[in-house]
Amino acid sequence: MTDSSLQPAGPVTDDAQRARPVDPARGTRRGLALDQISLDPGFWKTLQDANSAGTLRHCIEWMERLGWLANFDRVAAGTMDHNRPGWQFSDSEVYKLLEALTWEYGRTGDAEVDAIFESLVDRVAAAEDEDGYLNTYFGHPGRPERYSDFSMGHELYCAGHLLQAAVARMRTKGEDRFVALGRRVADHVLREFGPEGRNGVCGHPEIEVALAEFARATGDTRYRDQARLFIDRRGHGTLTPVPLLGPAYFQDEIPVRDTESWHGHAVRALYLAAGAVDIAVDAEDSALLNVLEEQWHHTVARRTYLTGGMGSRHQDEGFGEDWELPPDRAYCETCAGVGSLMVSWRLYLATGRVEYVDLMERTLFNVIATSPSPDGTAFFYANPLQQRVEGSDVLPDAVNSRAEGGVRAPWFDVSCCPTNLARTLASWQSYSASVEAENLAVLLQYTAGEFDFPLRNGLLRLHVSTDYPNASDIALSVSEAPREGAALRLRIPSWANGASVSVNGGPADPVTPGWCDLPEPVFEGEEIRLVLPTEPRLTWPDPRIDAMRGTVAVERGPLVLCVESRDLPEGISLESVALDVSVSPSPDGDGARARAKSVKTPAQARGALPFGGVPADQEMSEEFDLILVPYHRWAERGPSTMRVFVPVAVDPISKSPSGPILEGRSDER
Ligand SMILES: [Zn+2]
Repeated sequence: MTDSSLQPAGPVTDDAQRARPVDPARGTRRGLALDQISLDPGFWKTLQDANSAGTLRHCIEWMERLGWLANFDRVAAGTMDHNRPGWQFSDSEVYKLLEALTWEYGRTGDAEVDAIFESLVDRVAAAEDEDGYLNTYFGHPGRPERYSDFSMGHELYCAGHLLQAAVARMRTKGEDRFVALGRRVADHVLREFGPEGRNGVCGHPEIEVALAEFARATGDTRYRDQARLFIDRRGHGTLTPVPLLGPAYFQDEIPVRDTESWHGHAVRALYLAAGAVDIAVDAEDSALLNVLEEQWHHTVARRTYLTGGMGSRHQDEGFGEDWELPPDRAYCETCAGVGSLMVSWRLYLATGRVEYVDLMERTLFNVIATSPSPDGTAFFYANPLQQRVEGSDVLPDAVNSRAEGGVRAPWFDVSCCPTNLARTLASWQSYSASVEAENLAVLLQYTAGEFDFPLRNGLLRLHVSTDYPNASDIALSVSEAPREGAALRLRIPSWANGASVSVNGGPADPVTPGWCDLPEPVFEGEEIRLVLPTEPRLTWPDPRIDAMRGTVAVERGPLVLCVESRDLPEGISLESVALDVSVSPSPDGDGARARAKSVKTPAQARGALPFGGVPADQEMSEEFDLILVPYHRWAERGPSTMRVFVPVAVDPISKSPSGPILEGRSDER
């Protein structure tokens, strides 16, 4: 059923149809396209290369091995029956991979990647029904009826991921048979769920954000109207509850507009919010946008981990209540990190506020970069901030249960995270720089590479040299600029107290966190030096996070650090470690070295329970050096126990932590 009469169009050149995942119909900010940034060796290129060389093919191999790809072949051949491998949503993994492959092709022009994409499209397209319905789980002989399970069926969720892949294709290669397939799938959704159609919403949001972007890419506002309809229909309890999961799990107990904070299943909440931002922006619904900004602020201030991770509860993979942030039970699904990026990027484009980009940096370095193994073939699904028991080494051929922590696994029973990482890393560039009002270049994330800002008066080409985040220095050289110069804005991260900027070797002017607009236009041949201090610093939790009270973390630049058991002195257990905060941690490689003691095990037995009527003695050991490493690297050397927040050593005489460092917050030094 593939349409071979539609030939792929040539490369897309119109700036409104460039290779970027998000392109609002209204507003003055636009992210650079993938082909406007090329990365040089550095932190993000290493991850992107591992994605290219490892993750993309790894995902195909696993989906082939488990029969998730063959499900399409069986539907096409009419042989699908009651015995179908994979969850209801396994088609979506194929679509997320298609999205990743097409961004990869758009970025690299690699013909082999495009050939893989086309071969997968052959199989996907062959499974399409006459009316544009495409799903291998429902609607076939021996299978459940179409749209018979809105709560958990994920049919519209799958369609949404196909549409996001089609948007990526449109913006990297132009109209082709896959884009045409996307149109038929989208039109089917409109016919089935339009104003006169079924009054249903999908248990897992995704179709909303997908239709909104599909409308932008095609210029057909019917898709946006449908996205808006789905958002407005939600929150009225139409989804049938499933055991142990109430309507809040699906964000179906209260409309988006009336929601104070993100709640329920974290990925669902974030995808829904991303779609709602798109609708608010394109429909110029400022009331809705304000509500979404308030939701972001509430959730980030009270329900988000230091890593940027979201989701405290394992049972429903969901947000907890305010301040419910246990480090050892943190769920922080990798996909929730992706969802958080999706929302924050859209809010940045809509408002220009720096805090959204700050959270993106935190999430990129500490959730997204943490999940994949260095070769891109094993992944964390959950990203807790404390691991009490060493993970058991996983077999390279084993399907892991999703939340089993402590080691990166090659694949999961529910394997949403690897393909979500793949599409995010393949398009990483598109979140790192933007142009505002066609005349202001904004550098958002720091990495080595070349950035081409298309400004109204001409091109601004910046070459960025840096080993950030492992170095403080970021050198920008202007290799091309409009004759009258160009306005340049830099982001000074929220943690970067003591940052400075100098132009052409001049004095280093102090700059404060937030936006830094260079006072003069920049011209070709000029050099700008930005210094972001990356000395280790102590970070204290809000005391209302009772699960972290009495503890402290160490950060360095954008990196959250952690202690791993393998770096402890012989005989010291991780749960006994206490940080001496009277001594500032010092740099050590890309991590830090601090002073610590350990709590000696009480000499006398205290009864059957680990509790007593008087406080236990907390006799401290001699001090020792405590090594902290970047959280994103934890467990790369093999299974270990780990913690980010470390109890503060208490002086046994005064029973209080002491030292000058506590007199001011360490980040205000
Ligand atoms: Zn996931």
